[in-house]
Amino acid sequence: MSRLDVAVVGAGPVGACVAALAARAGLAIEVFEARPGPAEDARTLALSHASRELLESIEAWPAGATPITSIHISQKGGPGRTLLEAAEQGLPALGYTTSFAALTACLAQRLGERGIAVRYGESCEGIALDADAAHLRFAGGREVDAKLLVLADGGANASRIPGIAFREKDYEQLAVVAKVATDRPHGGRAYERFTPQGPVALLPVGAQFALVYTASPVEAARILGLDDAAFLAGLQSHFGDRAGRFVSVARRASFPLRLRAINVPVAQRTALVGNAAQSLHPIAGQGLNLGLRDAASLAAAIGSTPPEAVGGAAMLEAYRASRVRDTSRGVAFTDFLTRAFSDRRRLPTWGRGLALTALDLFPPARRALAERMIHGARG
Ligand SMILES: Cc1cc2nc3c(=O)[nH]c(=O)nc-3n(C[C@H](O)[C@H](O)[C@H](O)COP(=O)(O)OP(=O)(O)OC[C@H]3O[C@@H](n4cnc5c(N)ncnc54)[C@H](O)[C@@H]3O)c2cc1C
Repeated sequence: MSRLDVAVVGAGPVGACVAALAARAGLAIEVFEARPGPAEDARTLALSHASRELLESIEAWPAGATPITSIHISQKGGPGRTLLEAAEQGLPALGYTTSFAALTACLAQRLGERGIAVRYGESCEGIALDADAAHLRFAGGREVDAKLLVLADGGANASRIPGIAFREKDYEQLAVVAKVATDRPHGGRAYERFTPQGPVALLPVGAQFALVYTASPVEAARILGLDDAAFLAGLQSHFGDRAGRFVSVARRASFPLRLRAINVPVAQRTALVGNAAQSLHPIAGQGLNLGLRDAASLAAAIGSTPPEAVGGAAMLEAYRASRVRDTSRGVAFTDFLTRAFSDRRRLPTWGRGLALTALDLFPPARRALAERMIHGARG
């Protein structure tokens, strides 16, 4: 049995970030990860400027991230489009893309340098909470007691935590992701195109684009099964030619899309962060950005608490209170975008066209949208 101040379950980007930010002399912190080793996830992540600043503060900004200097938003089969530009915000970039694998590898390296062990192949299978500690049991038999459990496992164990209730919405869509290349340089521009079947996003990454193509389960199965030429032809007619002609596609993968939010991100001796606390549709690229702000808030609460009071009610309340506004707005904003731009019954095509045209003609509204995507809720 080992005794820790902080046990982080899940070495995804959010759990690793909490551990790196909370590292300080005198606190015993360890991270437990079910995967046998580093992540091999093919996902490309768009991170905001604020997330970059946070990761840079712990020297965990991965080399080679691609800047997004503008975002072109449009809808298929309808009028209206808007262009968000970094220059208008006075920033070098609106955001950046990096790979999930590069980010988690970079964070794991920083944890090693700070003397925090990441124990791979440790799947947490039992959680018991009392006033003094969280008691954890892992698949291989390891047992750990911690003053604070940071649950960062993407949601795998949240149902084991007393008092946690879920709000779930299945969008009945899958995200098909792949790297694609076009016949002209992207110039740092990302595209978000709303179609009746769901949004399609192209994010610049290196010299290529990362494609996120939302589709019904039946349609997703069909396009996953196409040969490359047929896939590219279908994408061209679905997306149009504003990014050029699609010339190649790499390995495709798919992820189910749903909204899952919990009632409160704390329980006895426990804080929930990242996807364990809320998992969002990737339509607005908000999920990890929101999760990294969870990590920063939790680390700040740990950092301002004496070691003997870590995991106590006052520290957990400080974390809970700091997340209420940002989390509820992030969830509502993403759900609104998903419904407004995917569901014809809610906002007819002309209504979406009007919204996009208004955004384009009205710089303060455009700045407000960019601000929300860059920094989350403020104040
Ligand atoms: C297709 C797609 C595209 C996306 N694009 C973006 C984007 O552009 N921008 C953005 O901000 N967000 C994006 N997201 C969301 C983003 O991927 C998540 O918000 C982010 O991965 C959450 O990080 P996390 O560390 O909380 O959880 P996860 O990344 O889910 O990590 C959880 C970790 O816990 C481990 N684990 C699970 N169970 C256990 C257990 N029992 N014991 C120990 N360990 C366990 C897992 O192996 C995993 O390593 C996207 C998501 C999808 C699906």
